[in-house]
Amino acid sequence: MAARILDGKALAERVRGEIATRTARLAHQSGQQPALAVILVGANPASAVYVRNKVAACEKVGIRSLRHDFSEDVAPDEVFECIAKLNADPQVHGILVQLPLPPQFDEREVLAAIALEKDVDGFHAENVGHLSQGLECFIPCTPHGAMKMLESENVTIQGAEAVVIGRSNIVGKPMAMLLTNAGATVTVCHSKTRDLASHTRRADILVAAVGRPCFITGDMVKPGATVIDVGINRIESGPRAGKLCGDVDFDSVVDVAGLISPVPGGVGPMTITMLLENTVIAAERAARKGR
Ligand code: NDP
Repeated sequence: MAARILDGKALAERVRGEIATRTARLAHQSGQQPALAVILVGANPASAVYVRNKVAACEKVGIRSLRHDFSEDVAPDEVFECIAKLNADPQVHGILVQLPLPPQFDEREVLAAIALEKDVDGFHAENVGHLSQGLECFIPCTPHGAMKMLESENVTIQGAEAVVIGRSNIVGKPMAMLLTNAGATVTVCHSKTRDLASHTRRADILVAAVGRPCFITGDMVKPGATVIDVGINRIESGPRAGKLCGDVDFDSVVDVAGLISPVPGGVGPMTITMLLENTVIAAERAARKGR
């Protein structure tokens, strides 16, 4: 029997509706409109698309967005100055620096410059520390979106064998932490893992965040497993050239898995949704503190 589809697009619509309600309530109660500042350095076409999508999504739920665009060769101090001003501005609740940055930047330094209470991407080292200890923090948007998808389908996480493929700071590691905090027994695989399939075949929950098109095939998946495909890859050749695909070979996995997230329409829409939610949370916290 073919797997059920985890519809991230529909879930994202639902959650964005709730966010719009919270935004309107906050504006009514405190006179504060949540605001997200987005910093884009250079002209990376993919980054430009991500930033455009984020700004458009903000507008739809009533979040004010402020764009700060810098040229590719900008001196880092100029960007640090901009971050410092945004940190001090009570009308700004979230600050996002679109990655990757040009080579003159040390990304860790830039992320560390963002005020903790405005770090809505959740990449600040202190935020990551809080996440690892299960404390209140901004949860990085992509793994947060993936967790919401699991929760929306009442997937049993406690006691489950979970395998995360990928150990990046923005997806793999925080995903593994979230699953661990939720009671799963987690294995993290990466490019040095020996016999990857022996791990993936044991997974009740399999999360693929590799960046390789159709990398996970049906024979690597346990029958009935829940498969979350984080990958976003552009197909380079053949009849589907130019289209997006995930890290999971959907056609072969759909007949083995019990539940599967598609690409597009899976984790992608949930990532931006969680950014919106983090921004509203930041604004609500600021309002409670009377700022
Ligand atoms: P990275 O390139 O930072 O990390 C990829 C990970 O995959 C690394 O840990 C790497 O291992 C591992 N890997 C690479 N090759 C293999 C292999 N042959 N076997 C096992 N593991 C392997 O990517 P990201 O984490 O940033 O992103 C992963 C994917 O998710 C990409 O397709 C990206 O586009 C997508 N993405 C989607 C988002 C969304 O909103 N849906 C948001 C962010 C990313 P090692 O560490 O050893 O190099």
